[in-house]
Amino acid sequence: MSDIDSLLALTPEEIEARVLALGEKKFRAKQLQEWIYARRVDSLSAMTNLPQALRDQLSATTALRTMTLSRVEGASDSTRKFLFRLHDGRYIETVLIPASPALYGEKSDRRTLCVSSQVGCAYDCQFCASGLAGFTRNLSAAEIVEQLVQVETLSGERVDNLVFMGMGEPLANFSNLVRAIEVLNADWGIRLGARRMTVSTSGLAPRIQQLAEVPLQIRLAISLHGATDEVRDQIMPVNRKHPLAELFDSLHHWKQHHKQRLTFEYILIEGVNDSLDQARHLVKLARSVEAKVNLIPYNTVEGLDWRRPSVPAQEAFLQVLTSAGVPATLRREKGHDIAAACGQLRLKQETELGIIESPIPAKRITIGG
Ligand code: SAH
Repeated sequence: MSDIDSLLALTPEEIEARVLALGEKKFRAKQLQEWIYARRVDSLSAMTNLPQALRDQLSATTALRTMTLSRVEGASDSTRKFLFRLHDGRYIETVLIPASPALYGEKSDRRTLCVSSQVGCAYDCQFCASGLAGFTRNLSAAEIVEQLVQVETLSGERVDNLVFMGMGEPLANFSNLVRAIEVLNADWGIRLGARRMTVSTSGLAPRIQQLAEVPLQIRLAISLHGATDEVRDQIMPVNRKHPLAELFDSLHHWKQHHKQRLTFEYILIEGVNDSLDQARHLVKLARSVEAKVNLIPYNTVEGLDWRRPSVPAQEAFLQVLTSAGVPATLRREKGHDIAAACGQLRLKQETELGIIESPIPAKRITIGG
């Protein structure tokens, strides 16, 4: 199916080129741009100061919204998960997370949006629901931007922070990711500060090098989940391609261009990566690039055998980090009761609809389970 031509990720120059190509005056481009981004109307018919002919010509080939809300699930802690149906019948999920002291320290009334960057994921992390059904396609830049626009409209709330921690590997969808970030950040666009955006990656070292060159002070989070190649190789196949030494070279490079602290995400999985020996290796890794560590107790995925360690075991792991002076938090993560871990809701929806077969994994290996 061909991609829908959305207006939502066009630059001012591209908007102008379209307007001129349709034989209209240049000042119409500025008007169109304001309708798209500043006023965020969802249809061309709402653009009342534009000539009808221009609106008709544009609506013949382009759209302002390409996805529809399929369902919303709310958790008791008021995390809300939005399942969107894309123009080609596939599904993605976007999660709105209310203030969390674990994420923001003392500041309390912020909202974070967790957006998807792909349908499915090709990276096959062994613990993750997103990869279970394989990779379908990249999201366009417009589909990434539209997640924020739609959630703000639907919820009536403003998004303060945006994290690329939904479904997909953002750095594997590099050019669309960078365009989306530019649109989200631009004064003519969504106007979200670069420091309020975090790209999370499983560790595509060459792409981290490349992203470091983008002249915006965005933040970077690494899904580490293992503090030695031995452990990481077992649960994240990407590590066999880009082992820790290469990953950390790219992080040193990143740090030359970015002032904000790096974040390591570390899911605690019982018997797999939760030994105190791993914690001690993690101390060394975090110190080497002055990263802070977010520990996240593993969220159970249907069909996978992994479990989170007991609370005392989680706390013992944390203690190794904090007593070594590594800034670290243990997340009592939100949304546990609405399948909030990466990809789980979409997997459920597409399986129920028969778009994909139930991917309960025959090929999965179980480590330490
Ligand atoms: N591919 C990118 C973006 C996805 S972020 C990345 O790996 O960073 C989604 C985060 O949720 C990642 O840190 C991922 O490892 C984590 N995650 C995946 N499955 C999870 C689960 N069952 N419980 C807790 N965290 C999970």
